[in-house]
Amino acid sequence: MSINTLTTQCCIVGGGPAGMMLGYLLARAGVDAAILEKHADFLRDFRGDTIHPSTMELMQELGLLDAFLRLPHRKVERLVGEIGNVRVTMAEFARLPGACKFIAFMPQWDFLDFLADRGRRYRGFHLMMRTEAADLIEQGGRIVGVRADSEAGVAEIRADLVIGADGRHSTIRERAGLKVEDLGAPMDVLWMRLSRRPDDYAEAFGHFETGGILIMVDRGDYWQCAYVIQKGSADELMKRDIGDFRSMILALSPWLGERVNEVKSWDDVKLLTVALDRLPQWYRPGLLCIGDAAHAMSPIGGVGINLAVQDAVAAANILAEPLRAGAVTLDHLSRVQARRQWPTRVTQAFQRTIQSRVIGPVLAGTMQPKPPLALKLLDWFPALRGIPARFIGIGVRPEHVRTKEAAGA
Ligand SMILES: Cc1cc2nc3c(=O)[nH]c(=O)nc-3n(C[C@H](O)[C@H](O)[C@H](O)COP(=O)(O)OP(=O)(O)OC[C@H]3O[C@@H](n4cnc5c(N)ncnc54)[C@H](O)[C@@H]3O)c2cc1C
Repeated sequence: MSINTLTTQCCIVGGGPAGMMLGYLLARAGVDAAILEKHADFLRDFRGDTIHPSTMELMQELGLLDAFLRLPHRKVERLVGEIGNVRVTMAEFARLPGACKFIAFMPQWDFLDFLADRGRRYRGFHLMMRTEAADLIEQGGRIVGVRADSEAGVAEIRADLVIGADGRHSTIRERAGLKVEDLGAPMDVLWMRLSRRPDDYAEAFGHFETGGILIMVDRGDYWQCAYVIQKGSADELMKRDIGDFRSMILALSPWLGERVNEVKSWDDVKLLTVALDRLPQWYRPGLLCIGDAAHAMSPIGGVGINLAVQDAVAAANILAEPLRAGAVTLDHLSRVQARRQWPTRVTQAFQRTIQSRVIGPVLAGTMQPKPPLALKLLDWFPALRGIPARFIGIGVRPEHVRTKEAAGA
């Protein structure tokens, strides 16, 4: 069997938001970077659609914002929830500082295609689709590359640094033997589409009722719907008649009416398992994990994509120069973790609180959903809606692009 051997300065495993953003930034800074993505394209439903003001701010710093906003997207200026029969505005992004006072709901494949297109303009950007990292290559206790399966056969990609950006089921972190701390999540999610009518609500929408939660994301002519279920309960539920499931959706949102019949069978419903975890240590000599591979995020707040992008920016800021000089040390890798660990912990603490105080009890049917005082205050004093908007939209310790575009990159 022939093995293709390639050499690069940085081998990034995973073409999600973390890997694509890091690949783009490194190539722009004059670093040679190979990004390995196991799929043939980015067209997979559902990966999250939310591009937050923090990410758009970075786009502006990179001079990409105008082109980015020319891609089809929907601007969402406030997040609204229906808790029992009370409608509350949970966050209002118009109150944020900066150029983009909204969340851009954009199919993630468009965002990733955009980064790929911009990245290809740099010599050092090598996106290898249909290339699945299977193992790490180790020499003398240091990771020196990746063994991958591709259409052309087995490839060995030798690199000064390997980045694990391969998401919450990361092969890289597992092969590296990095310990995972599981924080637990009480839910999984069933995804499906239902048509949207022009006179439907205009906001992203969540409905909480005893025993069920339905989140609906406006995608123009259809709603991307997330029916939240208790962790591990999907198998039992999916043995039942699809009509039962339609009734469960209707019980939460009767206004959908006969549209629930668009869910014809269980083939129209996709299960997404939710994980919340993190690595106590994100690195080993020659290897660093970022994004969900370092800290799997729950969908709560729709922050995971943006946190992954922030990790990528911090990693590029700290690593571009030593990568160009061929002088990455363990200290550089630990500085990336030190920079990003705190925002991760704060965000996960927020997600855990919502999980244990709201989602778990609501799904278990032990809590009658009613807006807590904090949400009532947001309703009574609209000025306060800027606080959750800031936490969700900008986040903790927002990053800024410090790398420069290299001459001749
Ligand atoms: C149900 C659900 C809904 C969510 N909704 C939202 C949302 O609306 N907004 C939001 O911000 N976040 C959301 N999240 C969280 C968000 O999806 C993640 O936090 C985010 O995608 C992390 O980005 P990443 O680049 O680190 O990893 P990923 O997006 O998981 O990307 C990893 C990439 O690596 C590739 N890959 C995996 N293994 C290999 C391998 N061995 N070799 C090569 N390639 C490989 C994968 O194909 C994938 O493209 C949601 C999460 C869940 C579970």
